Amino acid sequence: MVYLNYLVIITRKLFFDRIMTECKQEERKVNCTCTYDCHRRGKCCECLDYHLAMSQLPGCAFAKISKEAERSYNRDFDYFATLVLKK
Ligand code: SF4
Repeated sequence: MVYLNYLVIITRKLFFDRIMTECKQEERKVNCTCTYDCHRRGKCCECLDYHLAMSQLPGCAFAKISKEAERSYNRDFDYFATLVLKK
């Protein structure tokens, strides 16, 4: 559980301190690696808030590991941790 809390803190820091200093929604919409058809595409702050509230990570985190993992649409922390530990 400590690992998962750490993951949330790092993810928030990455998105809000580094990526979200300047919002480029249209550019992000084009470059988004999530394959789910969703109105939050390109709105990374909304995407992250939505998933973190459900103990999940956004699709782009899973896409970094594998396209199959992203396309499973399982966004749970536990699934992500399992994938990371398998690598
Ligand atoms: S990760 Fe979730 S909220 Fe973000 S664009 Fe994909 S489906 Fe939408």
